[in-house]
Amino acid sequence: VSTIAVLSGDGIGPEVVQCAVRVLREVRLDVECVEALVGGAALRAGKPPLPDDTRALCDRSAAILFGAVGLPEYDSKPLAERPEKALFSLRHDYELYANIRPVRVFPGLEGSSSLLPSLVQGLDLIVVRELTGGIYFGQPKERRTAADGIEEAVDTMFYRAPEIERIARVAFEFAQQRRRHVTSVDKQNILETSGLWRQVVEQTAQSFPAVSVTHLLVDNAAMQLIRRPAQFDVILTENMFGDILSDEAAMLTGSIGNLPSASLGTRGNGNRRFGMYEPISGTAPDIAGKGIANPTAAILSAALLLRYSLDDEPAARRVEQAVESAFRSGARTADLARGGARALNTTEFTDVVVARLPR
Ligand code: NAD
Repeated sequence: VSTIAVLSGDGIGPEVVQCAVRVLREVRLDVECVEALVGGAALRAGKPPLPDDTRALCDRSAAILFGAVGLPEYDSKPLAERPEKALFSLRHDYELYANIRPVRVFPGLEGSSSLLPSLVQGLDLIVVRELTGGIYFGQPKERRTAADGIEEAVDTMFYRAPEIERIARVAFEFAQQRRRHVTSVDKQNILETSGLWRQVVEQTAQSFPAVSVTHLLVDNAAMQLIRRPAQFDVILTENMFGDILSDEAAMLTGSIGNLPSASLGTRGNGNRRFGMYEPISGTAPDIAGKGIANPTAAILSAALLLRYSLDDEPAARRVEQAVESAFRSGARTADLARGGARALNTTEFTDVVVARLPR
């Protein structure tokens, strides 16, 4: 029996994660899903954003299935007292340095994209984002009052060569299994960290002769993603650029509610790595509690969990095929329904997915 830590968090988190758990239980009878508090849900219970018992559960689990954390009521608090602190602690403490974000436009969903259907038809790319370094973690990182009495603030973008090399390897390994092209995104014309990034990516590329590599400046990459997204296979980039570019890429699929992610680290190996699996979106406070959120990202995150932490490719495929089949049949949640089509709510959409799981 494999234990999965289920941390649903806030807003739409619990609404979509319960759908993912339902699908997981359909395809694997030997998985024990154990829920624990995180984020605002923990704060409301008088605990820190990542309580000790939640961390202990994660320690003894094969993987974490995560929803989302963060609510407007906490936005003005210092980071240590905000729900999001839990996310950064989990990523940092388990050294989940490799964030994998597959971006796929399922057949039939082309019309929901922000771009012309002809530009996104069959789109299939992966963003590999470095998750534990860069400007989100570099020190110094503070707000302060300077000697002249003026308020100032500093964040630091910092990378060491081995951090770049290990994430570059992940990208090249994925590319080897796919269309064998890596696009490395940086800001080499301005940033010292990007100079090092490009150098290490070039060095790493030498170990993967079958994979070609192109370097793009991040501003150009943002443009190319909406100009001609089909040119990309694997996009490799640092933490903040990856954060922004993957939200942009999400809209190519029609909704941020479609995009799953896997964050893999140093624990475990092969397809039995410890990882955290979550939708790339936030808590969507504007629709939370209405039961209308799109559960696709959470369900596809469960598929990634099966693939990378439980070494169960057949079950992962079944889940992905069921989602694809649901879309093909015309099932749409409100974020994807176009032209007056009837929208299914979260539960109804999941019903369709479960019914279409290949036997
Ligand atoms: P968001 O991703 O929560 O929402 C952006 C927009 O996308 C909203 O209009 C929302 O309704 C829509 N959306 C998101 N997921 C959807 C789904 N599954 N189905 C249908 N529509 C969906 O981003 P935000 O509004 O900027 O942030 C809200 C809160 O979430 C903030 O507190 C933020 O800090 C937090 N956040 C958390 C995470 C995380 O836990 N990983 C990530 C991003 C933001």
